[in-house]
Amino acid sequence: MSDLRIIPPSRQVRGVDDYGSGAFGAKRKRWTAGAALNAKTEYEHKGLDFVVAPGTYIPCPCDAWIIRTGIAYSDEVNNPRLSEDQVLGSIRLEWAEDPAWQLKYLYARPIYKGGFPFRVDGGIPFAVVQSVARRYPGIVNHCHVEIRHRGVLVDPATILMEQA
Ligand SMILES: [Zn+2]
Repeated sequence: MSDLRIIPPSRQVRGVDDYGSGAFGAKRKRWTAGAALNAKTEYEHKGLDFVVAPGTYIPCPCDAWIIRTGIAYSDEVNNPRLSEDQVLGSIRLEWAEDPAWQLKYLYARPIYKGGFPFRVDGGIPFAVVQSVARRYPGIVNHCHVEIRHRGVLVDPATILMEQA
């Protein structure tokens, strides 16, 4: 399907915990703002979750341009109770060989604080995993990896994975 191969953040995929499954397409529910009490909207998990301990440096998945970084949850912006390192981050990158392939990482912050885009070779540490259990007590700490090809979500498990 593609020549893209990725070096995953770890070798272990998150199974089922109190918050659901880490598999691509797993059913999730979220509270719907403004809807009737107890209303929840069902949606599907857009990525694949890899079990990683907070503080772990993870390798860049492929030769990539880091496009931009942001935060995973808008309600954590300017939250005085959270340090800069605690605010859960997101990192967007594209495959250097073919920018039709775009990846998004959640619950990680970049090591480099320079401008964007910047180039990182596959296998080079580029981000530090954060504690998502700080926000969701009891969840297995993990790094969420989302892959799109021409804007369409792809199951990361179908992408060939390599050892760092
Ligand atoms: Zn996820």
